[in-house]
Amino acid sequence: MNMEVDWLVAGSGAGGMTAAVVAHELGGSVLVVEKEPMYGGTTSKSGGVAWIPANDGLAALGISDSTEEAYDYLKGLIGDTVGDARIRAYAERAREMLQFMTQHSHIEYTPLPTYMDYYEHVPGYKDGGRSMDPSAFNLKRLQEEAKHIRDDHYGLMPFNITVVEGRQLGEMNFKSYLLGIKLLLRFWLDIPSRLQGKSDQRVTLGPAVVARLRRSLMDRDIPLWLDSPMRELIVEDGRVVGALIEREGELVKIRARRGVLLATGGFARNVEMRRQYHQGPVSADWSGAAPGATGDGIRMGKSIGAALDFMGSAWWSPTYRLPDNRTLALIAGKGYPRSIMVNKQGRRFTNEAQPYEDVVKDQYASERRGEGAVPCYLVFDAVFRSKYPVGHIRPGKLEKDAMLASSVFESGLLTRADTLAELAQKLAIDATQLEQTVERFNDYARKGEDPDFGRGESEHDRYYADKNATPNPSLGPLEQGPFYALRCEAGDLDTKGGLQCNEYGQVLDESGTVIQGLFAAGNTSAAAMGDTYPGAGATIGSAMTFAYLAARFAFPQDLKKQGEQV
Ligand SMILES: Cc1cc2nc3c(=O)[nH]c(=O)nc-3n(C[C@H](O)[C@H](O)[C@H](O)COP(=O)(O)OP(=O)(O)OC[C@H]3O[C@@H](n4cnc5c(N)ncnc54)[C@H](O)[C@@H]3O)c2cc1C
Repeated sequence: MNMEVDWLVAGSGAGGMTAAVVAHELGGSVLVVEKEPMYGGTTSKSGGVAWIPANDGLAALGISDSTEEAYDYLKGLIGDTVGDARIRAYAERAREMLQFMTQHSHIEYTPLPTYMDYYEHVPGYKDGGRSMDPSAFNLKRLQEEAKHIRDDHYGLMPFNITVVEGRQLGEMNFKSYLLGIKLLLRFWLDIPSRLQGKSDQRVTLGPAVVARLRRSLMDRDIPLWLDSPMRELIVEDGRVVGALIEREGELVKIRARRGVLLATGGFARNVEMRRQYHQGPVSADWSGAAPGATGDGIRMGKSIGAALDFMGSAWWSPTYRLPDNRTLALIAGKGYPRSIMVNKQGRRFTNEAQPYEDVVKDQYASERRGEGAVPCYLVFDAVFRSKYPVGHIRPGKLEKDAMLASSVFESGLLTRADTLAELAQKLAIDATQLEQTVERFNDYARKGEDPDFGRGESEHDRYYADKNATPNPSLGPLEQGPFYALRCEAGDLDTKGGLQCNEYGQVLDESGTVIQGLFAAGNTSAAAMGDTYPGAGATIGSAMTFAYLAARFAFPQDLKKQGEQV
C-alpha cells in the first residue's frame, strides 16, 4: 500500500501531536504514526509542566517577564553551545506556540506563580510563573481512544492531582484536608468508573497533556496509527520525501509532500546507544522514559547524514526501581530536612536539594573519582519517615512500615536499621565514615547551614523542602532511629542528544546544511537547552515549541486561506 500526505509525523508525544495539530490547522493533510500499542510516550509519564517564558497568564499574577529576559536567562545558562538563533527562537516564540495551541487545540496551561526557574544567579531568572501546569482533562472525552493512552503514570493517591493541588495537599493544613476530601469524593462519585474498576478518569499532569492533544487530533480526524513504527526515511535527490512505516507486518510507503517530522523521543531505553555515547556505568532500566525511547528517529536521521549533538547528555534525575521493575523519578522528596545522600564511602557528594539534573551529574562525578556513587543512597531518620513522602512511599504517619509490601525491603529498595552503623553494614558502605558524615551534617544543619554543598540556600532548594522547618527549610539533623536508606540510581527522564536542528526544527547535516524535507522535535533533536535544565517544563516546552516552529516552516502560508485543496 502507498499513501501520500502533506506532513508525516513519527511519535505521539508532546512534540509529535503538537506538530500534527499545527500542520492541520495550516491546511495540511497529516498522518501520525506511533511504534507502541499506546500513544503518549514519555510525555504520558511526565508531570506535563511546560516552561513558557513571558506567557500570557503572567500579567494576571502581577509577574513581569519579557522575551529579552528569557533570552538572557537561557543564553546565560546555555552560552555558545547551541546556535544563538535556536535559543532566541525558544525565548521569543514559546509563548506564540502556546497562544496558537490554546486557540486551536484543547491544550490549556496555567502559570505556577511560585514555581521558580532553577538557577537564580543567572540574569533573567524569574522566581515563578514560567513553569506552567496543564489543566485536568476527563478521559471520557476520548471515548474508545481512552483505552489506548499510555497509563503507567504513578501517583501517591487513588485520584489524580494537578501540580497546584499537589502543592496544596503537601501543606498538610486544613485547606489540604478539604481539598483531599473534595478530590476523593469526586473520585468515588464517578460510580460507573468505580464499578468498572477503572482508574481516575480525571487525568492531570502528563496524561492530561496527552489526552488533550489526542482529543485535538480526533476533532480534526487526524489519523494516528498505533503499532506502526517508522522504519526508514525515503530520500530522493537529497530531499526526504517520505518514509517506510511498518503496519500489520507490511511496509507501507508514505510520501510526505511538505516534510517528515521525527518526534520519536530519545534513546534512554536503548542500552547499546547508552554504552556508545554515555559515561558508565549505564543501564536502560534506570530511566523513567517510556519503552519506545530507543533512538529510532536519531538512527534514521543519522543514517542519511544528519549531524548529532549532546549525545553524552540526558535530562538526568535520580530514579529508583520498584520491586516490580518499574522506574520512578525522585524529583521531590530528596530535599526535605533530616536526609542526606551518600556514596559507597559513606560521604555526601552533592547538594541533595538542588535540581535533579545536577544531582546525577554530581553522582557521576563522584563515581569518576572512584567513590562508588552509582547507586547512591538517600539516608533519612525516623522523623523524616513519619512526616514526608519519599518517592511513592507515603509518610509513615499515613503508611507505617508494616503496611509497605515486604518486597520494598526485600528488594533492597528501602533498608532500615536501628543505628547508622547497622544501616551502613547492611548497605556495605563505610560505617565510621557514615557516622562522621552525619555528625558533621547535623552540627551544621542545626545552625541552618551547609558549608560543604550550600544546600537550602537557593529558592529552588527551599521550594522542595519543608517550609515549617527552621532555621533552614531544607536542613535538619538525622538523629532519631530507626534510620532508612532509599537506593537511588543514576537515572534520567530521557536523553538530550539527537539530531542537530536549526531554529525551524530543520535537521542539519555534518556541514551545517539543511536536509530538505526532514524535521525533528523533542528528544529526537539535540536539546535546544544544551546540557542544561533551565526550569521545570523545559523539555516539554521545547518539544512543543520546536514542533510548532517546524510545522509553521513547512506550511509558510495557511493552505486553507490560499484555497488549496487539502
Ligand atoms: C517521571 C517524569 C516526569 C517528567 N516531568 C516533566 C515535566 O513536568 N515537564 C517536562 O518538560 N518534562 C518532563 N519530563 C520529560 C518529558 O516527559 C520528555 O522529555 C518529553 O515528554 C519528551 O517528549 P517527546 O515528544 O520528545 O517524546 P515522547 O513523549 O517520548 O514521544 C515519543 C513517541 O515516539 C514513539 N516512537 C519511538 N520510535 C518510533 C518509531 N520508530 N516510529 C513511530 N513512533 C516511535 C514512542 O513510542 C513515543 O510514544 C518528565 C519525564 C519523566 C519520566
